[in-house]
Amino acid sequence: MDNLKYYNMGRQVPQEAKKSIGGGRLKGMTDINPMWRIKKLTEMFGPCGIGWKYEIEKEWIEKNGDEQAAFVKINLYIKDDDKWSDAIPGVGGSMFVTKEKAGLYTSDECFKMALTDALSVSCKALGIAADVYFDKDKSKYDVNTTEKEIEKEYKCEKCSKPFEPWTDKNGKTWSPGQVAHFSKNKNNGVALCYDCSKSK
Ligand SMILES: [Zn+2]
Repeated sequence: MDNLKYYNMGRQVPQEAKKSIGGGRLKGMTDINPMWRIKKLTEMFGPCGIGWKYEIEKEWIEKNGDEQAAFVKINLYIKDDDKWSDAIPGVGGSMFVTKEKAGLYTSDECFKMALTDALSVSCKALGIAADVYFDKDKSKYDVNTTEKEIEKEYKCEKCSKPFEPWTDKNGKTWSPGQVAHFSKNKNNGVALCYDCSKSK
């Protein structure tokens, strides 16, 4: 079995399933539509209950002063080659009672949200939505490069700025290694970044 089979099947999240978080502690992070994960699991393994399933192992509340948070621990199972996997555990949490300006706010959706969170943790272990969590890894697999090229860091030979992946007008993405190679050919054997090649 290709060890990265499921990882590569699930890693990419389409734009329509992503939402960037505008405020709060998680500002700048990406929120993933929970239904997309269900769809992905179904696409990869089959319907829930047949190709994948989860069980809730534990639900509990933790208190911190006036505030309370709900937690859920689940075990996710996937079927591969007609055999159920071992448990893929995930723990998720969500606020139950929050202290707000107007007083204490109680969420009646907290266990549902904690469950969604727990499932995202188990899914993450399978590589589902990996590109969102491991942003820097993206260019490695979007372009065809060898493992050796991936390991090496390509830098401008003048200012040492690392080369970045570049997408041309045809939508093809060039890896940093390919960009460096291209620059080398253009600048008499010296790999220069865009700025340095212009000011040379
Ligand atoms: Zn430079």
